[in-house]
Amino acid sequence: MLIRLPIMGFDIDDVVFNSFDPIKAMFKSRYNLDMGDPPTFTLRDYCKSLTEEQYRNTIDDALAKSDIIDPIAGAIDFIEYYHSVTGYNIIFVTSRNEKMVSPTYDLLDRYFSGIPYKVFFPHNEGKRKIDIINGCGIDMFVEDRLKYCLDIATNDKLVLLHDKPWNRRFFNEKNIYKIVRFNKWKTVRIIYETFSHLF
Ligand SMILES: [Mg+2]
Repeated sequence: MLIRLPIMGFDIDDVVFNSFDPIKAMFKSRYNLDMGDPPTFTLRDYCKSLTEEQYRNTIDDALAKSDIIDPIAGAIDFIEYYHSVTGYNIIFVTSRNEKMVSPTYDLLDRYFSGIPYKVFFPHNEGKRKIDIINGCGIDMFVEDRLKYCLDIATNDKLVLLHDKPWNRRFFNEKNIYKIVRFNKWKTVRIIYETFSHLF
């Protein structure tokens, strides 16, 4: 019997890489602002004293420093495993803006030089994440922003939600049964191995 192994897609920030820490550190060093563990994805409420430009530049500047952004434990190992069993190219789908394109390739090349990957920046071409996810035929997507998770689950995909302080509220929407929360990447491997045959 031929088995088509499920196609996965990956968000980048706070899923594969720990991006929040450098952002938090940048707000602290530039403006002495403490982010704590924000209960919402947007940090704007913590930065009311800043202009929109200062706020956005701080995030962009932190994410541009690809050399200070570390992978989340287990993420690279899982992606290497996934590639080794499927032979698939790795698909990243990120909300990073157009200024972030080059630093994103720097970051990914640093860790995935041996694995073919493609990265999509849907917002830079007037698309949404779900448009890319549907277009690529992705079956399972790993994400940390609840808003996108709900969007993706509603489109009949399985979502693996990386547990973060900002995605713990409002977790009572419909389609929630298609969203599986995880803390450690080894759980993603268990889920992948367990549910592969369902796709
Ligand atoms: Mg993210």
